[in-house]
Amino acid sequence: MPIKLETRGTENGNKVLIIDDNRTTSNMLEETLRANGYETRHSPDGNDGLRQVEEWKPSVVLLDLVMPGPDGNKVCSKIREMKLPNRPSVIIVSVKDDKESIVKALLLGADDFIVKPFEEGEIVARVRAQLRISDFYREIEEDKRALETILDVSNAVSATLDPSEILNIIVTRVASITHALRCSIVLITKEDEGYVLASHEDPAVRELKIDLSKYPEIKKVIATKAPLVIDDMADHPLMAIVKEQTKTLKGVSALIVPIVFNDEVLGTLFLRSRKKAKGSFSTKEIDFCRIIANSAYHALKNARLFEKVSKEKDYLREISIKDHLTATYNHNFFYSRLEEEFERSVRYDTPLSLVMMDIDNFKHINDTYGHRTGDLVLKELAEIIKKGVRKTDIVARYGGEEFAAILPHTSLKGATEDAERLRHMIESHSYAGLFNEKITVSVGVATYPRKDAVNSGDLVNLADDALYKAKWSGKNCVKVAEPPN
Ligand code: GH3
Ligand code: MG
Ligand code: MG
Repeated sequence: MPIKLETRGTENGNKVLIIDDNRTTSNMLEETLRANGYETRHSPDGNDGLRQVEEWKPSVVLLDLVMPGPDGNKVCSKIREMKLPNRPSVIIVSVKDDKESIVKALLLGADDFIVKPFEEGEIVARVRAQLRISDFYREIEEDKRALETILDVSNAVSATLDPSEILNIIVTRVASITHALRCSIVLITKEDEGYVLASHEDPAVRELKIDLSKYPEIKKVIATKAPLVIDDMADHPLMAIVKEQTKTLKGVSALIVPIVFNDEVLGTLFLRSRKKAKGSFSTKEIDFCRIIANSAYHALKNARLFEKVSKEKDYLREISIKDHLTATYNHNFFYSRLEEEFERSVRYDTPLSLVMMDIDNFKHINDTYGHRTGDLVLKELAEIIKKGVRKTDIVARYGGEEFAAILPHTSLKGATEDAERLRHMIESHSYAGLFNEKITVSVGVATYPRKDAVNSGDLVNLADDALYKAKWSGKNCVKVAEPPN
């Protein structure tokens, strides 16, 4: 689809600077141009003129050739050396009418040459012609930028795997091309629910939930599957139901383009134009946004899939490493983590402790209160242990009513204190359904480094032995592994 833009007047579109030392000529020029709707300024000499070109950024400069300071040709050359966002047109207005002067001025960068005395009509017509040309240039420049953006976005779509990165590229580029105050991409999830997946004002936005009942413009676009332009957010019949929220948006226009494919609306590209911008969104901008929305479709589709797959992956991983009842880690995970931590301790020469706990007389709890209450006790007890250790410690259900805690970077003394604290917390807690009956645990502690522990299995055996010692000593106590002989 070719990009066809309507020309939108720019902020500098009608500014004419007159650089002329002759006050009568400049007054006449200013009067004529103002009467025709142009904004004008006057400079009495070349140096002041150059300063005004730089600061005021006129679209057209009417330039005398002979004046004090740098002459017209010199000023023209200097203007051409300036790095200005929009190239001003320069029209020489001079009494010199010889071919040589005209050719020289044009070669030095002037766009046109008017010989004094001039007619008012001629001046207006020539200024208008120059503005037409510069509008044309600007349009080409804008088209070029739009095409570059489309190319950039499609490159990003094919080269970038992370969908949110693609969406961020889209919103930043679109905002810069359209000069939008705000550009975001909304993913539609349910009837009245959407998520802002990317927003150009805030690249950190990734999943901001929004209530679509507060965005009638988005709902309309979902229903019609067609782009919608709202000229004034504060004064549009569609926005009447959210008048309170949009009353600050007087004069702000919005463009909402559906991200749609095969009749499926996945989301919307949402733009808000700068306040008091001349006119609303142009047909060309709408077409441009439709093309971009098309590429966003695939990124959005991938984002959805990506999210679904990674959630499923997270879920599968979670159930494969956790114990269902207590949500602590399971036996397998416990062993693989203990092995990792053991190797780390060996490599970096840091202590590693293992705490093993077994509930005392748990059979009695089951027999007295039933298995279901027993299960609840296991859950509550696991919570106490998880809360009682550091974030970096690993708590696992080692067996039926046995728990283990891996404590990296923890010495025997520290681990014994931790174990004693846990034992006390478990003993003093009152458990649901137990009528104040206490739950106690016997605890065994072993710490690496020690010469009889050469692998993680050794550490488990040592902690287990200590646990049995605790049982034999009358339960509800902490015992540490015997020192190696
Ligand atoms: P000790 O003080 O010597 O450890 O005595 P105990 O009764 O705790 O030890 P024993 O090994 O004889 O019994 C463990 C009990 O834990 C038996 C078993 O039914 C119970 N148990 C194991 N897993 C679960 C479970 O998931 N839920 C419930 N409710 N009970 C369990
Ligand atoms: Mg037990
Ligand atoms: Mg047991």
